[in-house]
Amino acid sequence: MHRLFTSATVRLTAWYLLIIMLISLTFSVILFEISTTALEQGPQHGPGWAMHVDDELLEDLWRQRSRDAEQTLFGLLVALNLATLALGGGASYLLARRTLRPIAEAMESQGRFISDASHELRTPLSVIQTENEVVLRDDRASKTQLRHSLASNLQEVSRLRQLTDRLLSLSSNRPLAMETVTLDQPAVDALNRVLPLAQAKHITIDNTVPPLAVIANQDSLTDALAILLDNAIKYSPERTSIRLGASTQGRRVLISVADQGAGIRQRDIPHIFDRFYRADQSRSKQQVEGYGLGLAIARRIAQQHGGDISVESTLGTGSTFTFSLPLKG
Ligand code: ADP
Repeated sequence: MHRLFTSATVRLTAWYLLIIMLISLTFSVILFEISTTALEQGPQHGPGWAMHVDDELLEDLWRQRSRDAEQTLFGLLVALNLATLALGGGASYLLARRTLRPIAEAMESQGRFISDASHELRTPLSVIQTENEVVLRDDRASKTQLRHSLASNLQEVSRLRQLTDRLLSLSSNRPLAMETVTLDQPAVDALNRVLPLAQAKHITIDNTVPPLAVIANQDSLTDALAILLDNAIKYSPERTSIRLGASTQGRRVLISVADQGAGIRQRDIPHIFDRFYRADQSRSKQQVEGYGLGLAIARRIAQQHGGDISVESTLGTGSTFTFSLPLKG
């Protein structure tokens, strides 16, 4: 990556410098031509002028002076072009670096994304491979053992599926098809999706989202709300409650998901929307499953809707995620 960036910078510098030097040399040649033509024409004489001996001397002197002036001008233009070459070279290099920096950063982030994704994909694949190898080596494996192994493989496969679905939704650049959506519908759909998880932890969800009209892509909006609700459930202790609500603020709708969970440390907050970022969970009793992609997807969906997502959190008290959307009309 570094070598690619360096060679591209050098090439772009050369192109910039070539253009600068072409312009500078063209102007120098034109300037030199105009000046020498003017000098070669000699002094302008008024009407009724006749040449005397003194005038011939004057003419010689003029020619001598002209040659000197031409030489001085030539030296000056050469010096000027050398200076342009040196300064232009430096400026071109800086400009080339500036031009290529965002491209290099985008490539770097893409490379990181691919390597993180491959790393995450490897873990479930290794589990499946090891499990299958162990069962295949054991000739006397009972039916129960085989079923157990298949069930475990299926669990890993469903994790892989969820991961690839999330990777796909992050990498897709297709614009969302927008329509008029009544906000309570995606809220109810998202809630129904996570209900079994909430019930398993005896968590109640209080939904007060009103039927506000927004311009949105209903499926994506449902996905984003489901991610926020899923997290609220995952990172909350049993028998707590979650509030899902919405209010308007000027021309925007603010949808909020408030939990009474573990909360997020202030130093983690700027990073939790980054792809693959997971805050340290050593303080929680059990490890919570996830790939660190949910919030990155939710933020992307919010931005595709012309909105954004933010969080306020207090450790040990809970977190409130706010998803903002422009109102219809
Ligand atoms: P995942 O949940 O798969 O780790 P996310 O992108 O959804 O990935 O979340 C990133 C991190 O943000 C999580 O690992 C967790 O540390 C933190 N987080 C997200 N939602 C909450 C929440 N409601 N309460 C506490 N921490 C949260």
